[in-house]
Amino acid sequence: MAIFLENIELQISGKAFDKISEWINKGYVKKANEIKKNNWNYTLKSDDDIYECNLVYSEHSIKSFLCACNQRFNKKACLHVYACAQWHKLNIKSKAESQKTVKKKDLSLELVKDNLLNDNFIQFVNKELNRNERFNHAFQLRYFYLLDTLPKSIFEEILPLVQPEKTNIKRSSLISYKSQVVLLNELYEASIFCVANAMNQNGIIAALHGTLFANKLFKLFKNNQSDLINRKFHTVIYEIIRSAKQPDLREYIFGESIQCLNNSDYNILHAEENLAQYL
Ligand SMILES: [Zn+2]
Repeated sequence: MAIFLENIELQISGKAFDKISEWINKGYVKKANEIKKNNWNYTLKSDDDIYECNLVYSEHSIKSFLCACNQRFNKKACLHVYACAQWHKLNIKSKAESQKTVKKKDLSLELVKDNLLNDNFIQFVNKELNRNERFNHAFQLRYFYLLDTLPKSIFEEILPLVQPEKTNIKRSSLISYKSQVVLLNELYEASIFCVANAMNQNGIIAALHGTLFANKLFKLFKNNQSDLINRKFHTVIYEIIRSAKQPDLREYIFGESIQCLNNSDYNILHAEENLAQYL
């Protein structure tokens, strides 16, 4: 008959259960070693006897047992076996299960959220900003409008132009292109935010420079994706021009846009979405 770990107290008499509980409380189980997976050897030392027990477990029950008191042959488990099983349930199995629960909790979304809301997250972000260049760049592009002053060259620094090999496109060039597209998207989202939230003049000017700079990339990377991004950026430029109400700002934007239009880096890729059309 299988012994189920779940409710050993129901499988033996109350008196027998009291007995094994007493043995466990007195520390009669002296040694427990897992000799193979799910196969355990125990040394049970009572006041006047020592028994070696061996129990093989399946997930919830005992598959087979062997006790030195030699009652195995009548197929009935002795109290030593029950004592070892109960001890195992209390000391090994319940601990393994609580560890499982802790591991699950470690990975939970709740815990991640908790971390997001305390200082650990700020420390994490700071560490990543120092350690991870791409994250740092994406962060700067995403929040460039928060800087008080923005040198025009910052976009050049963050998004250095990479010329892919014309004859033999190298993998590194592709990766670089891909990461630049990711960064451009950050810049795009930030520019949209500036315009949509009527940022101060510096923010609008920064957005303009960001979007104008982005065009340089499209001269180097012409494919379907760059065309799409090019259109997105022109939408931002259009919105910037449209949203600028102050005469000073309008004049400034006009001047910068003309300069950009005359720049050899600027390509008109689309009949309607281009600077000449907007001005
Ligand atoms: Zn026994």
